[in-house]
Amino acid sequence: AAPVAALRSVSDASPVNGVRPVTAPTPSRRWTPSRVLVTRSAAERPYGQRVLARLEAAGVSDIELLRGDRLPSLRGNGDRAAFMAAKQTLALVVPPASLRRLQPIAPSADWRFDLAQGCPAHCQYCYLAGSLSGPPITRVYADLDEALTGLDGYVGHGTVTSGSAARAGEGTTFEASCYTDPLALEHLTGGLATAITHFGTHDWAGPVQLRATTKFDDVAGLLDLPHGGRTRLRFSLNAASVARRFEGATSPVAGRIAALGAVAAAGYPVGLTIAPIMPGEGWREGYGQLLDDVAAALPRGTDLTVECITHRFTPGSKATLTDWYPRTKLEMDETTRTTKRGKFGAVKHVYPRDTMAELRSWFQGAIADRLPDARLLYWT
Ligand code: SF4
Repeated sequence: AAPVAALRSVSDASPVNGVRPVTAPTPSRRWTPSRVLVTRSAAERPYGQRVLARLEAAGVSDIELLRGDRLPSLRGNGDRAAFMAAKQTLALVVPPASLRRLQPIAPSADWRFDLAQGCPAHCQYCYLAGSLSGPPITRVYADLDEALTGLDGYVGHGTVTSGSAARAGEGTTFEASCYTDPLALEHLTGGLATAITHFGTHDWAGPVQLRATTKFDDVAGLLDLPHGGRTRLRFSLNAASVARRFEGATSPVAGRIAALGAVAAAGYPVGLTIAPIMPGEGWREGYGQLLDDVAAALPRGTDLTVECITHRFTPGSKATLTDWYPRTKLEMDETTRTTKRGKFGAVKHVYPRDTMAELRSWFQGAIADRLPDARLLYWT
């Protein structure tokens, strides 16, 4: 009963459907890259030119227009200074054509659709560790206009949304957050708004959904877009103690929850990506508080999904993360984990079966209690 009452009181204060304008929370941080590299092909694309104009308007001073399409080597000596310099660099590039032949990306969505690769934040468990090659600079893809047009051929294909009852009605889904956090870059690129507007206004051959996940809260530029309910904005959330310790240079959890409430009030379908779940001391209280705070922030009738992902690591991601964050206190002890092997023999270390069962049972119950209208898409 308590969560329903909480939902009602918030709903009354923040009516949906334009009865009163939706106000965005003040963004808690905005990244300014120290250095921007722009390839020749990227500078020729219309979207590349729009990003360039935004970068200049944002006061980014060190913008280098390259004569060709090769980025200079940023490897440095592999030391910390080189890592930090790479994290402070944004490159505007045209991706290889192979990137626009989309890959399936279960369980999140039918297809992976990249706006960028890389992220300026410093999560000590970063999902990109082990999957990025080269220094961790953020590459923004300048071919966005053409790439959006190219999505038509994928509509009606895909296995995730057609194979899951929980996904019924979502149509063909496209995930924009596999290799980046789009909202972390949005003030510099406008790429997420461009994609949302395209999904909302294009004449599609069937139902579609754009999906994005973020640990940021700068949603003001998204609230008035003609999204048509075709973008699901998910917020990556964690117990406050986990976020404080391990999610450097992201927006605080409270800001993300306020942003979640704002986009839900603006009519977007929304979601929680609760990840990476870690059963540290007091985890039930921490995650319980998180779910209570979410329930209090959402307007009544919000279309809400939940994805739950427990912490895991691979030998490659552990090596990269300990290189990036040598003093991390993140638990990555293989001896306390169960080893799982993927389709092609890839090893990953997950929590033991008993721990997983306990976590899963608690989360299923807690979500059903506190967010009774939410759809749990998957647990992993
Ligand atoms: Fe990595 Fe995501 Fe954190 Fe960015 S927000 S550092 S992509 S885990």
